[in-house]
Amino acid sequence: MNALLETTALTRHFPLRLPGGLFGRPGLLRAVDGVSFALPAGKTLGLVGESGCGKSTTARLVLGLMAPTSGAVRFEGEPVPARRGPAWRALRRRMQMVYQDPMSALDRRLPVVTQVAEPLLVFGQGSAPERLERARDLMASVGLTPHLFERYPHELSGGQRQRVVLARALILQPSLLVCDEPISALDVSIQAQVINLLLDVQARFGVAFLFISHDLKVVRQVSDEVAVMYLGRIVEQGGPDDLFHRPAHPYTQALVSAIPSPWRRDGMRRIVLEGDPPSPTDVPDGCAFHPRCAQAMAVCRERRPELAQIGGGRRAACHLLTPVAADTTEATPC
Ligand code: SF4
Repeated sequence: MNALLETTALTRHFPLRLPGGLFGRPGLLRAVDGVSFALPAGKTLGLVGESGCGKSTTARLVLGLMAPTSGAVRFEGEPVPARRGPAWRALRRRMQMVYQDPMSALDRRLPVVTQVAEPLLVFGQGSAPERLERARDLMASVGLTPHLFERYPHELSGGQRQRVVLARALILQPSLLVCDEPISALDVSIQAQVINLLLDVQARFGVAFLFISHDLKVVRQVSDEVAVMYLGRIVEQGGPDDLFHRPAHPYTQALVSAIPSPWRRDGMRRIVLEGDPPSPTDVPDGCAFHPRCAQAMAVCRERRPELAQIGGGRRAACHLLTPVAADTTEATPC
């Protein structure tokens, strides 16, 4: 299956000064460190992991908002062009973002219908009445009632604001929505509504989602494929049912064990990880997870496990699962 979006060995490192000496010493923050995946049209890839694991940086790289240190992002088979050029602006119509906090994504000084219509103005589409009519249609289709159209963001609830953000993201008919923690700023009572809306939007418009969240329950619900990230790398990837019922990587096992049943497999004990994740400025040698892994072996401290097929269409990076070196760069479609 051809991928709508594909990343190959995507890497983003930030040079910085670390404490030490008179002027500090040179260091490197490895935010994203060799991420490869493929997302087919109309499907959802969930990216999960603890804060600081590189999920949001991956999103910015995918959208071309940030240049990679190395590696590649391809959209419909073509490299994502350099930021702010005409080719990039044209491509951004097809790739939109839904942010975590809808209030900060909206302009408090403008009625929401004006903001939903704004991307059409930016790309020179339609007359003013046509743009407003299109905006009203789309707002109605995401469940906003007409009496809300002329209101300002602060007059809406959190769920209504996220619907406005979604309508604005959809108005240019994108092929890909990058959703960065789209429900984490919402009340629990309306999170389910927004999730159902996202699923409905995907069914109706055929848009693909790169869905970023630290909430495993939500990721399982919306994803066709799930990738688990740890310190800038994917450590396990697979279908949601398989991955949540039979997590293979010790880090995924710990994450899944912390979810209340019914997703926790029978007899699975809660695995409490010792300590905090290491800093991305000081990634441990070998397997980056080894200081916290109860199953670490001598080889784990010396050799970094590469992401490789472990059967059943799944990939994992662990010496327990892939003792023989395997191909690491090929991305697996959802
Ligand atoms: Fe644990 Fe070793 Fe596997 Fe890393 S490679 S997850 S340290 S067993």
